[in-house]
Amino acid sequence: MKVSFDKSTLRYSLPNKLLCIDDNRLIPPFEEEENEMGVCSECEGPLFSFTYHNFQDYTAVVCRCGDCSLLRIILFDPAWEWVGEYPVSIIDDALQNSVNLTEKKSMSDIGNIAAVKLETVFSPREIEAMIQKSKGEKYVRQYLYNARKKYSLFNELFGYSLEI
Ligand SMILES: [Zn+2]
Repeated sequence: MKVSFDKSTLRYSLPNKLLCIDDNRLIPPFEEEENEMGVCSECEGPLFSFTYHNFQDYTAVVCRCGDCSLLRIILFDPAWEWVGEYPVSIIDDALQNSVNLTEKKSMSDIGNIAAVKLETVFSPREIEAMIQKSKGEKYVRQYLYNARKKYSLFNELFGYSLEI
């Protein structure tokens, strides 16, 4: 069996415990449990599971190294055979909190939202369309339409209700 996803798009939101795969799929955990999952590939410290997520027919386990605190994702197939281990970047919640305090919650100008947040949810073309629309420029309707379907996800993840 093969699993296909863009490994460079793996992100994890610590406060929400949401796993983000392929830019726009946000997957909440179905289980939170701490189990020893092996050794860290960086420092050989113990890897502990943190949250478990369903991804297609697979189970993605977010793990944290007990020594170096590195986050990894280990993917298992439906028979719980090891498929692969992948690095995952963290959506910066400290940044999110400080920005949320000073910015309006309702946004019609997305220029003030950190790119990493937008990129977590929206594709580059969708972001481009949102920027163009907010500036009153020409935009591709289909991309904005696709982006609007994710506004509630974006609000759930980052607390901004977009009005574009
Ligand atoms: Zn480690």
